[in-house]
Amino acid sequence: MCTFNTLLKAEHLTEFICRFNIMSNKKVTKIGILCSGGDSPGMNAAIRAAVRTGLHYGLEVFGIMRGYSGMLEDDIFKMESRSVANIIQRGGTVLKTARCMEFYEHEGRKKGYENLRKRGIDGLVIIGGDGSFRGAQTFSNEFDIPCVGLPGTIDKDIAGTDFTIGFDTAVNTAVEAIDKIRDTADSHDRLFVIEVMGRDAGYIALHSGIATGAENILIPERKTYIDDIIQSLQEKEKRKKLVNLIIVAEGDDFGGGDEVAKYIKQKMPQLEVRLCILGHIQRGGTPTCMDRLIASRMGYHAVECLVEGKHNVFVGIQNNRMNYTPLNEAVKKKQRINEEWLKIVKILAT
Ligand code: ADP
Repeated sequence: MCTFNTLLKAEHLTEFICRFNIMSNKKVTKIGILCSGGDSPGMNAAIRAAVRTGLHYGLEVFGIMRGYSGMLEDDIFKMESRSVANIIQRGGTVLKTARCMEFYEHEGRKKGYENLRKRGIDGLVIIGGDGSFRGAQTFSNEFDIPCVGLPGTIDKDIAGTDFTIGFDTAVNTAVEAIDKIRDTADSHDRLFVIEVMGRDAGYIALHSGIATGAENILIPERKTYIDDIIQSLQEKEKRKKLVNLIIVAEGDDFGGGDEVAKYIKQKMPQLEVRLCILGHIQRGGTPTCMDRLIASRMGYHAVECLVEGKHNVFVGIQNNRMNYTPLNEAVKKKQRINEEWLKIVKILAT
């Protein structure tokens, strides 16, 4: 029996599908896989999953080197199951990744389309960030090639998913490094300002800062009140609390770790202040178990989407369930920082 509720749901579903144009009857037979934008650990596990799921469904699978650049330059090759053997544990990406200025132009995208058409490639899996998804959406609108995205970014700055491929590894790398720095801070009664990655998103700073017991965590999503930090350092100094770790995301509004360290030195010359910028060690390295798991799960579901006709979405995981967000939505939202975490940091860092 068809109830009002089911009718309502069906109506909403139709509206959703029409609005975002995410369902299609177009049958996909040959898929191309590429990585685009910044690399992140776990991309290889995602490539492996997409290749093997594609083969499982009887699709022909092609690897596209260096993101959209390889598509434009016809750097495309056929992949078999063995092509992805022994890569699940490796950081970086065997397909390499790149940023491609030509892809911003229609003429560039057309060149890419012609290279796909030559081989009959009629579906794409794109592992990258919101910029890469924006490019994929534009490309799909112009040339009717269905695209499915996988969120590969260490920054975890994409709404619609609780995880992005690479974040867990990056955070764990930062935690390991900060723990080591703490040993020195403790031995010498020093204050360390540690800059972690995150130009627009503070998740690496927030998670690694909480996990290492940092006193202050400065993130792009919040204004930095530097004089409040100086005041709390002065209070702690009176209580003889001399070991302090301040974690700063590179995009913090005061100007990153360098500026923060300089300001503290200037205001509190009696303190031994050191600056440590963790930099690119956070991007590479063996992916954690968590990143391998989510990359495998997302890679599998990306190909399922193409096979089932669910197009122009990116695959996410929310509350341990798969979640599909239209590609054009991924560009509009940023994750919100959970206010509770900020409260916890304040309470625990006394
Ligand atoms: P990320 O995917 O990590 O956010 P970028 O924003 O640098 O990284 O995007 C990666 C690539 O995606 C760009 O170099 C470009 O080739 C393509 N791209 C990004 N935005 C667009 C767009 N609006 N139109 C077409 N291509 C785009």
